[in-house]
Amino acid sequence: MKEQSYICPICNNSELMLRHEASYIYSYVLDSDAPGRNNQEEFLPYLYDKREQKDQTDYIVCNKCGTKYPYAFIHGILDRDIFS
Ligand SMILES: [Zn+2]
Repeated sequence: MKEQSYICPICNNSELMLRHEASYIYSYVLDSDAPGRNNQEEFLPYLYDKREQKDQTDYIVCNKCGTKYPYAFIHGILDRDIFS
């Protein structure tokens, strides 16, 4: 049986993580009570009026040595076919 495994080429560790990193701008309308149309008594950051995504990036990081790899490395550089 063939299985796919991912190995860090720097330290040979097999625990790799895919990370999705993103940044957002949350906007809240300043109205008569707490900022944000959905906030009345208090300001709650998750009750926003508008959310814009600014940047996003996907990468793979090794849990042991911390090396970051571009997502494209998932094929050919980090993957290993294991026959068991
Ligand atoms: Zn590593």
